[in-house]
Amino acid sequence: MKKIPAGDLLIGAHTSAQGGAHRALLEGIEIGATTVQLFTSNQKRWEGKAITDADADLFKQTVASTGLAKIMSHDSYLINLGSPQPEPLQKSLKAFREELIRCQKLDLAFLNFHPGAALEGTEEQCLNQIVASLESIQDLADKGTTRLLIEATAGQGSSVGWKFEHLGYLVERLHKKIPVGVCIDTCHIFSAGYDIRTEEAWDATLAKFDEIVGLEHLYALHINDSMKPFASRKDRHAPLGEGEIGIESFKAMMKHPRLRELPMYLETPDGPPLWKKEIALLREFGTL
Ligand SMILES: [Zn+2]
Ligand SMILES: [Zn+2]
Repeated sequence: MKKIPAGDLLIGAHTSAQGGAHRALLEGIEIGATTVQLFTSNQKRWEGKAITDADADLFKQTVASTGLAKIMSHDSYLINLGSPQPEPLQKSLKAFREELIRCQKLDLAFLNFHPGAALEGTEEQCLNQIVASLESIQDLADKGTTRLLIEATAGQGSSVGWKFEHLGYLVERLHKKIPVGVCIDTCHIFSAGYDIRTEEAWDATLAKFDEIVGLEHLYALHINDSMKPFASRKDRHAPLGEGEIGIESFKAMMKHPRLRELPMYLETPDGPPLWKKEIALLREFGTL
C-alpha cells in the first residue's frame, strides 16, 4: 500500500462554528487543518437550531473551496442515549435525531457521540438502552451517509464506553443495522487504563482493541494529552507533550501505518494558536 504524504493526512481540530457552521471550516484553514470537528448547534442546550437550505449550501460550497474532508460533528453534552430515566431519555432521543438530521443536511462524514451514562442503573442496562436507542433511529440513519461514531470515554462518573468490551458490545449488536464505528480519544483511553505512551504500548493496546472490538470499526481519533494520570478515569485534556501521555506517544502514532491515515481531531485546550502548532508538529512526525 502506498504511504499517504504527511501533507495530505487528515489532521484538524474542534473549531468554532460561531456565526455559522461554515465558519468552523474557515477557522480550520487558518490553522493548517485538512479536516475539522464542530458543534452543529449549542452543545449545552437541548433545543438545536435547524440548518436552513442556505446554511447547507454555504457550508457545502465552503467544503468544496477549502478541500477539507471527513468533517465530524460532536453531539450535545446533554444527550444520554443510555439513560434509565424516561424523560431525559426521550429528550435525548429527540435531540440526537435532530443532530443527525443536521449532520445529514451538511453531508458530514461522522457524528461523534458519548455513548451514555448508567446513572443509578447498571452498565449492562445502560448498554442495552443505547442499543435500543440507536436501533430506533435506523429509519433516519438510512437516509444519509453520516456514520455514527461511538467515542471511547475516560470512564468518569457512571459513563460507559471506557472499556473496549463496552465498545465491542455496542458495535457487535449495531453494525449490521446502522452505520456505526468507534472514535478513540487518546486522553480518554489512557485515563481508562489503556497505555499508549510508547510504540510497544500502542501496539499492545491496538491488539486488544482488535480482539475485542475489531480494528475495522475504528474510523477516527481525538488527539489529546492527559492532565490526569494513567488509569485515573478522569477526563482532562492537556496540550500534546505537556501531559501524562507524553510526546513519544504522538510520534509513534504518526508513524503507525494503521493510525496515521485515520482522520484526527485535536481537542487540546487554548484554541487555534496551539492547534496550528500541534497540527504542524503532527505533520512533521508524519514525515519521520
Ligand atoms: Zn474526544
Ligand atoms: Zn475528553
